[in-house]
Amino acid sequence: MKKKYKIVFIVLSILLIISVFICYRICKYNEKEVRNKQRKEFLVNLEKKKREGLVRMGERIIITNDDEFLHKKSKAVENFDEKLSVLIDDMIETLHKKEDAVGLAAVQIGILKNVIVIDVGQGVLEIVNPSIVEKKGEQIEYEGCLSYPEIYKKVKRPAYVKVKAYDRNGKEYTIEGEGLLARALCHEIDHLNGIVFLDRAISD
Ligand SMILES: [Zn+2]
Repeated sequence: MKKKYKIVFIVLSILLIISVFICYRICKYNEKEVRNKQRKEFLVNLEKKKREGLVRMGERIIITNDDEFLHKKSKAVENFDEKLSVLIDDMIETLHKKEDAVGLAAVQIGILKNVIVIDVGQGVLEIVNPSIVEKKGEQIEYEGCLSYPEIYKKVKRPAYVKVKAYDRNGKEYTIEGEGLLARALCHEIDHLNGIVFLDRAISD
């Protein structure tokens, strides 16, 4: 009798261990399923937010090779919202990732909005809906463009410009520029009108 009990006890113990093990595996499997589902949901959500322009994408791809998109006209920004801030931050990062770059217009990263960032070494200028209100003199210098790598052409620009613009919060301000800043402002504002520097190049 005793031996029989012992066998029953051992069998029951084994069955218990097996069932605990099966339960543990099922739980683990479910945890993994839940984790995977959450991971996928997060990524889908992130992609959606990126498409909607609500989260930073970091350095953006610059359109090159005289793509016809570069000749399209950009539109005025109407909403000074989170989307605009995200775009400006991505544009600044994209500009700073390129050596010797002084300016970038939104059209160059595929966004037809009147947004420019310029950095001629005096801090970044965030320029929304710019318009030139005054021009003086002229300068002729070699000019390049992030959308036309390795191409440099002489372009005639005003020596001085005064530009009215808005910052990312919709606050109006004025920029006055001479030399390189005047050149950069004219070059980038041209981009917003679908004009590239080659359209204004002077033949040597
Ligand atoms: Zn350019």
